Amino acid sequence: MEIIKLKPAYSEKLWGGSKLKELGFDIPNGKKIGEAWTISAHENGMSYLSEGKFAGLSLKEVFDNHRESFGNYTGMYPMLTKIITANDYLSVQVHPDDEYALKKHNELGKPESWYILDCPENAQLIYGHNAKSKDELSTMIENGQWDKLLKNVDIKKGDFLFVDAGKIHAITPGVTVIELQRSSDVTYRLYDYDRLEADGKPRRLDLEDSINCTTVPDSDDVIVRNANKEVFNSDFFSIYILDATIENTFKISESASWLQLSVVDGSGTINGIDFKTGESAITMNGIEDIKVTGNLKVYISWIRK
Ligand code: ZN
Repeated sequence: MEIIKLKPAYSEKLWGGSKLKELGFDIPNGKKIGEAWTISAHENGMSYLSEGKFAGLSLKEVFDNHRESFGNYTGMYPMLTKIITANDYLSVQVHPDDEYALKKHNELGKPESWYILDCPENAQLIYGHNAKSKDELSTMIENGQWDKLLKNVDIKKGDFLFVDAGKIHAITPGVTVIELQRSSDVTYRLYDYDRLEADGKPRRLDLEDSINCTTVPDSDDVIVRNANKEVFNSDFFSIYILDATIENTFKISESASWLQLSVVDGSGTINGIDFKTGESAITMNGIEDIKVTGNLKVYISWIRK
């Protein structure tokens, strides 16, 4: 097993800021950066291998041309990891499932998940809705009854939320998450607080697609408080949080071909290699136990074989 660090792509956003600097990211000065795409093989923001014999190549290039190093996985790179720091409200949005996204955009659907790295006291996220039927959903959207329609949920640092395709959601100011999602960039915006683009025009909304894709009635909440160790398993991705101050070894319990490693707190070593907050890596050529020292917290993710 090799562990290869990656260089992220940065994404400028209206609601971005400079907080990623505090998490160790070398972001360009003077830009409102909202997202670091830390493990990505998506065209809209590619990660690059920063070491090993493929140093300088994109994750997509290496994945597509060296399937033998990834258990001969077929299909496009399935996951996308981002660190998101919100300086303002993100648009209220919903994502399609595979069926809708493949048909309309030739992209995968976009279930996603958030692990809260930082948030203000008494923070809330928008997570789900109160409409009982599609008609009621359309009416509430048309009439701008956002307070009535949108559900809020209290969050604290260390909480985990799964945001299935079809679930309305939004991140709020001051919140930092590591987001693991299916590799897709299809977002339908249903409300944007009436903000304008830099050119003064209202921001694009996707009301029809939003209504089509929203699960009604709302899907069940999937929230894990104080997430640690085995956090989440699904067909889209699985997550384990290894906290070196609690335990020092991770043994995978299901069959997978490679791991994604993201250090979300502290510093120390992973299988003898120095790591610090903000750094991410993938494994290639098999999976071995992950052994850590120091005080770091590693967010480990993979897709089931
Ligand atoms: Zn989203």
